Amino acid sequence: LVPVITIDGPTASGKGTVAHGVARRLGFAVLDSGALYRLTALASLRRGIVATDEQAVAAVAEALDVRFDGGHIYLEGHEAGHDIRQEQVGNFASQVAAFGSVRQALLARQRAFRRPPGLVADGRDMGTVVFPDAVLKVFLVADVNARAERRRKQLMEKGISAKLQDLLRDMRERDARDTQRAVAPLAPAADAHTLDSSRMTAQETVQAIMELWQA
Ligand code: C5P
Repeated sequence: LVPVITIDGPTASGKGTVAHGVARRLGFAVLDSGALYRLTALASLRRGIVATDEQAVAAVAEALDVRFDGGHIYLEGHEAGHDIRQEQVGNFASQVAAFGSVRQALLARQRAFRRPPGLVADGRDMGTVVFPDAVLKVFLVADVNARAERRRKQLMEKGISAKLQDLLRDMRERDARDTQRAVAPLAPAADAHTLDSSRMTAQETVQAIMELWQA
């Protein structure tokens, strides 16, 4: 069986950076499951579908025409890696991620990323729902202030200035939505290792996961 390492956790906990770091060390592929929710959101927005229309969004998720290619993401043949990072797209994604039919529609697609020599999957329900048989499950947390500060730095690097207060409010809203939804709420798997990265660099976090992997 192809080994999977799952990294779940709240928004801006550093999952993406850390998942890529671990994958690079092991030569594994990466699944950014959030990108699939964001692509579903972007394709829906482009069709004028509203975030409350579960059936329509699930149909979009089911028929999603996406291709992941060496760091690039194509939606319906066009590069979409930049567009899916927009705030509006993330908000739409976090709303429709609460729909069971949307999650179901993306399930097989996520599992298809599992291929030799291994996979690092990052998201909210990688260890609980998508890859319950993963060999290593990490639940990556960081306090909300540390996460907001990281997000602010990321935005600054892109030339966008944001108020820490606004980022904190958005982050608390998204945390609440992810942890309180009825379907696949954000929570550690029973066999997950919880890592608090509030006072760790991305490199140190990668190292800590490598030590768990080798243990
Ligand atoms: O991780 P990212 O912010 O890109 O994910 C976008 C949204 O998709 C999240 O706010 C979350 O609600 C949802 N999501 C999810 N399950 C996953 C990955 C993301 O519900 N495995």
